[in-house]
Amino acid sequence: MSDPHSGSTAVAGAAAGSEEPSSAATSVIDPDADGGATSLGGSRSRLERIRARAQARERARAAAREAHAHIRAGGVRRRRTPEELKNVVERGQALLHGTSLPGGPDTQREASAEAVIAWAVREFGPWLAVASSMQDTVLAHLVSKQLPWVDVLFGDTGYHFAETIGTRDAAELSLDVNIVDVRPGQTVAEQDATHGPRLYERDPEKCCALRKVAPMRQALRSYEAWATGLRRGETSSRRNAPLITWDEKNQVVKVNPLAGWTDDQVDEYADAHGLVVNPLLGDGYPSIGCAPCTQRVEVGADKRSGRWAGRDKVECGLHG
Ligand code: SF4
Repeated sequence: MSDPHSGSTAVAGAAAGSEEPSSAATSVIDPDADGGATSLGGSRSRLERIRARAQARERARAAAREAHAHIRAGGVRRRRTPEELKNVVERGQALLHGTSLPGGPDTQREASAEAVIAWAVREFGPWLAVASSMQDTVLAHLVSKQLPWVDVLFGDTGYHFAETIGTRDAAELSLDVNIVDVRPGQTVAEQDATHGPRLYERDPEKCCALRKVAPMRQALRSYEAWATGLRRGETSSRRNAPLITWDEKNQVVKVNPLAGWTDDQVDEYADAHGLVVNPLLGDGYPSIGCAPCTQRVEVGADKRSGRWAGRDKVECGLHG
């Protein structure tokens, strides 16, 4: 992994003649600031500290990745069967009031996001993964506080906005998580050769199935549960999303700790913890997917109306 941006970018900016070099960069290019040699030495030691911290983080991440993989490979216990996991779901729903009643979720009694995550971490440990579209990093941060170096599955379709890839990279540098890029069996070029170019225009169901759903389903076979950032307020099709459910399609437990959160709660949490968010959120994209299938929406419109705009399609297929 490359060095953190805080060190390498500052020096690169100064070398490129940036008008506003950071304090580190300034001391490198201003030998008179502190007697020259002292300043250069100070900058070097600062960069060395930054590099050492980055290396220590990478060692911790690698060690956790190895330990978690060992556990999931059966080193401690085997992956539980679907029937066993369904029993876990029932217990969790009863404990946390995390199910959907006929009239909708029991919002008065259901547990907080932190309590749901604590339950999931107790039940599954490293058999729990977080799914992230890199729209924001709130859920990854919440889970990493209770399960450091948790696997964060990012569906890397090959069609993402540059801002989304940047958010993924910033999350890796700033959070105690292990990001797993979940990629399709074919690159975009290979898919174009097999199915023709711009499959997303002609058959978005097939494109999503190939580039999102199948790879994520395959990845989830290594876990017992996944936590998603799905929220009831996002769109009408999600208004009854339970906190905990059995995901029949993917054959894993599905945990939605943020199901009851509003946009304001997400924004407030991100602000309070200084979390990276996808800059497109502030540029008219309240829901962010692949670039060819995501448009800006008018203020006040359904937040997911910019996804596959003009089509009946409202979900990629991962969430039903
Ligand atoms: S969102 Fe669009 S580009 Fe992305 S996988 Fe689905 S159809 Fe393909």
